[in-house]
Amino acid sequence: MPRDWPEGGRDALLSQAAARFGTPAYIYFADQIADRLGGLDHSFGRWFDISFAVKANPNPVLLHWLRGRIAMLDISSVGEFDLALAAGWGPDAISFTGPAKRDVELRRVIRAGLGELVVESLREARLADRIARDLGRIQPILIRLSPDRVPKGFGDHMAGRPSPFGIDIEEADAAIAQIKAMDALQIKGFHIYSGTQSLKPDAICDNWRGFMQIFARMVSDHDLRPERLIFGSGLGIPYHAGDAALDLAAIAAEMAGEFDAFVALNALQDCRLALELGRYLVGPAGYFVTQVVSTKQSRGSKIAICDGGLNANLAASGNFGMVIRRNYLMHKLGQSDDMALEKVDVTGPLCTSIDKLGSAVMLPQLHEGDLLAVHGCGAYGPSASPLHFISHPHPREIWIEGAEMRDVSRI
Ligand SMILES: *Cc1c(COP(=O)(O)O)cnc(C)c1O
Repeated sequence: MPRDWPEGGRDALLSQAAARFGTPAYIYFADQIADRLGGLDHSFGRWFDISFAVKANPNPVLLHWLRGRIAMLDISSVGEFDLALAAGWGPDAISFTGPAKRDVELRRVIRAGLGELVVESLREARLADRIARDLGRIQPILIRLSPDRVPKGFGDHMAGRPSPFGIDIEEADAAIAQIKAMDALQIKGFHIYSGTQSLKPDAICDNWRGFMQIFARMVSDHDLRPERLIFGSGLGIPYHAGDAALDLAAIAAEMAGEFDAFVALNALQDCRLALELGRYLVGPAGYFVTQVVSTKQSRGSKIAICDGGLNANLAASGNFGMVIRRNYLMHKLGQSDDMALEKVDVTGPLCTSIDKLGSAVMLPQLHEGDLLAVHGCGAYGPSASPLHFISHPHPREIWIEGAEMRDVSRI
């Protein structure tokens, strides 16, 4: 259950943060992240550790806060590895995914004692084996598998069609046999992340069933006793009007029998499962607050032009993997149910027509100086935006814990 907002509520805190630190700003509520984590643990903690995909939000204060609260981080670059170490994480609690890991990157993380290298190809396994041998190390690896089907209902697919990610399941047997023979690698388990941003419980359950089938078959056919199996969760969050948040408890209830049977398999008695996710944990706990700089009536439409646009928030502008542009949920700070609404196009400060935060959004009448809060912006924010484009000031990142707020901007 989300707790009540402190002191006058969410909008009061968002307004205070905007007044103190300026706009545009990403504002993260730590207590909301804690509640989401509580929900994940409550529903899935019986079977799963939580692993956070750093690329969703690499803010150092968040990474530090997560230490001791979740089991693992998943990183996708040496830059993220360094951020994780600087935030106090041990290398042994980190997994490293990514389809094009280079020699220098592998050398760096293997030397540093990376916990789990997620091997995405035979080429990468050979390279890692050679480097580990050079360094006199045995590197634990997870083999990333790419299933040949992903159920309908995911916002983005990383498998089920030609894909740079992981070893195609059709080739897995031959590849595993070769990897098993590599002396400097120790197969610690498997990894699948095949689809994301699903709000469809049936698709999520089907996807996980597929993972369990694949894992069970690989473990048995190759006579392995894995210590780790990673389930790329695919759990989505509501971004648009009409999206319904997932009911984790219902999903867990649906899967409980199957999870119980899976973890009871003989070969899995030394194994820990991990649910790997990003947006589900932090997305809804973050708001993007931007100020209306100017309003305009143009050829029958009202336009509110704001200080934060796609340069500061690519995802909300609809240019980060959305096929058809849909408005993110947003509201005017201080908005109440009795206010009359009107259609307004919300645009950013850039000299390009793709710089839109919303088309025909229903909002109370907007004036210069008003503040808008875009929802679902705790993940894929600043680090997924072209911050240098047109050289505006970078958005602030503000961390609110209880009623305390501070600027945690990286730059
Ligand atoms: C990006 C990523 C995730 C997280 O995806 P979300 O949609 O944010 O949950 C998990 N695992 C891997 C390997 C990723 O690349």
